[in-house]
Amino acid sequence: MFWTKMRKKIFVLAAAAFLAAGMENFEVVSLAAPAENGIGPGFDNMPAEASGETAETGGETSGEASAETTETAGDGAETPAETGEAAETSGETGAVDIAGLPEIGAVYGAYLYGSGWTANHEDNTWCQAGAGSYVTALRASLENQPENLSGTISYQVNLSGSGWLDWQENYGQAGSTDTAMPLEAVRFALTGQLAEYYDVYYSVYQNGAWTPLVTNGETAGAEAQGLRVDGIRLAVRKKGAGEPEEPAMPASAVDPAKPMIALTFDDGPSGATSRILDALEANGGRATFFMVGNRMRSYPSVINRMVALGCEPASHTWDHSYLTKLSEGQILSNLNQVDDTLESIAGVRTVVVRPPGGFINDASKAALAKRGTPAVLWSIDTLDWKTRNAQKTIDTVLSNVKDGDIILMHDLYETSADAAAVLIPELKNRGYQLVTVSELAGYRGGMQPGHTYSRFRP
Ligand code: ZN
Repeated sequence: MFWTKMRKKIFVLAAAAFLAAGMENFEVVSLAAPAENGIGPGFDNMPAEASGETAETGGETSGEASAETTETAGDGAETPAETGEAAETSGETGAVDIAGLPEIGAVYGAYLYGSGWTANHEDNTWCQAGAGSYVTALRASLENQPENLSGTISYQVNLSGSGWLDWQENYGQAGSTDTAMPLEAVRFALTGQLAEYYDVYYSVYQNGAWTPLVTNGETAGAEAQGLRVDGIRLAVRKKGAGEPEEPAMPASAVDPAKPMIALTFDDGPSGATSRILDALEANGGRATFFMVGNRMRSYPSVINRMVALGCEPASHTWDHSYLTKLSEGQILSNLNQVDDTLESIAGVRTVVVRPPGGFINDASKAALAKRGTPAVLWSIDTLDWKTRNAQKTIDTVLSNVKDGDIILMHDLYETSADAAAVLIPELKNRGYQLVTVSELAGYRGGMQPGHTYSRFRP
């Protein structure tokens, strides 16, 4: 019971995050009662049935359709008027004219370990975790569903260590947002009358590649082979329309062969943070924000937008304490307070910490190791907090920047936001991909808990 409540709570918070970020409202009404959505006797058997039925239905439908076409042609239907009559006739006999049905689309999101729910993905788009992350839960629904057809999209996940979980629908959460265990495989199926006229196609990103598309209750992903789901692609098409086309790569995709750097902003959030997010959003870039925990409650919408844009919310301690002055117990409780607060605001916890002042010693490293946290320093110090001069900050970065740098700035000053507004498009022009610290690390050897990192050269 507690777990159910907890999951609902986290989900509602995540939904709130979407709202705050200006996303569409996903029928909050339907969220209140996910348990009533088709979890009943026999429901567990649905995938096998759905798969078999759909295959038969698919064959029958296409057989009938071509038979009708042949008959119509035999009747000498060569004019649009007569073709129209044929369609009407089929309507009178009670069948739904598939040609008259609208295109419908899937809407979906994934919970990515270490970064939270993705933004809402449109039908047939890549929904993929960054390096070092993976999918622990997903949710989906349909848009443009015709009112006269019953049914919905239903989905089930295989969570590592737990096996296949209950089927979900109506944007209910399948999987867990409170686990380090990845999904291993997924299944989607259409229910009701929708299943007679539409197919659902899906694929997962696993072991460095997208799996072949499967349909209607089949399993995508390998079970019990130690492989994790790192991304999901989902599409709905009318029967007979064939497989969906290959989607374009997302603008935010990272090319591991090209230069990349991590912009980092300390001591916020503040009123200046939004302007930095504006520049990142306009240029398809991301950054890591090492936030002071006790400031976060004043900027919940900024933090939710940060997460929605794919930026990395990270820890700079609760109160800007120097780790070297704290006991192990104090370090653990201080950093947990940051994460608990962040989770209550945006449904996510931090992966990396930046020690205030850059002060760290063996004792603080041991404390970080205990909680599984790496420490991140920097390779370019702009001294923006000291100069409060945007041009000096810009010059420092542009005259020193190299592939793999971690750049230190502070989103506490308008002059730093001024500098960011110039630097972000200019660094992009110079061919740098602006990624988060965790993404940069993921492409350059990764991070170990209790270790410190100041750059990730290729
Ligand atoms: Zn600081």
